[in-house]
Amino acid sequence: MFDSIGPSKVVFMHYTVSGEDGAVIETTRGKDPMGYLHGHGNIVPGLEKALEGHVAGDSVKVTLPPDETYGPRKGTGPRAVPRKELIAAIRDQHEHKVELRAGLPVRLTDSTGNPVILWVTRVQGAQAWIDVDHPLAGKTLTFECEVLFVRDAAPEELDHGHAH
Ligand code: ZN
Repeated sequence: MFDSIGPSKVVFMHYTVSGEDGAVIETTRGKDPMGYLHGHGNIVPGLEKALEGHVAGDSVKVTLPPDETYGPRKGTGPRAVPRKELIAAIRDQHEHKVELRAGLPVRLTDSTGNPVILWVTRVQGAQAWIDVDHPLAGKTLTFECEVLFVRDAAPEELDHGHAH
């Protein structure tokens, strides 16, 4: 009996994301599969919903509007910040060493003390660029997933809110 994807399961899968023109934006093919903790917002909400109930061996293909993925664009584009400052700002949130790279979500505090999620869009030399919008915000995306493995999450993973 295979575990099916549901709350607090760790899922390993290969996935390919493509845009409306069919061009591949991102894929794990030829690389390590991605592992995520289901039900903890580790992946976009529409994909989490589409994967629910599936088991190892299943292929899932779904096309999702921005509302079910990274939301509509709301900002005016990336802005540059010193890389060192950004690393200092995110150091406290990750118990594991984090590599600053494009696509990394960063939780910061705005001027009124409210938490905001920003996205790293580019890292080059002493500078990094951050954006209120995910690089794929505003796009309709097609996700093709191959579920490889589903297991129960370890207590530590539930505690951290991500797969190890
Ligand atoms: Zn962890």
